[in-house]
Amino acid sequence: MRFGEKRTAVQSAQQFICKKCRVLVNVQTFEQTSDGVYFSRCPQCKAKNAVVRTGATPSQPGILPVIRLLD
Ligand SMILES: [Zn+2]
Repeated sequence: MRFGEKRTAVQSAQQFICKKCRVLVNVQTFEQTSDGVYFSRCPQCKAKNAVVRTGATPSQPGILPVIRLLD
């Protein structure tokens, strides 16, 4: 897992670990499905990772738990 590498690169962002390819991703944008599930797209494998919204803004650092993959 390439964890430390990216954590030092961007410190002021929310991140998640892609459930499909296990890469640490910096959240660019949140999207929302029609039934209200928030997800963020993995830039590497394009998987839609449903994440827990903690209430923090994207500029507040933290790693978001991924609930599941959407399709
Ligand atoms: Zn991925």
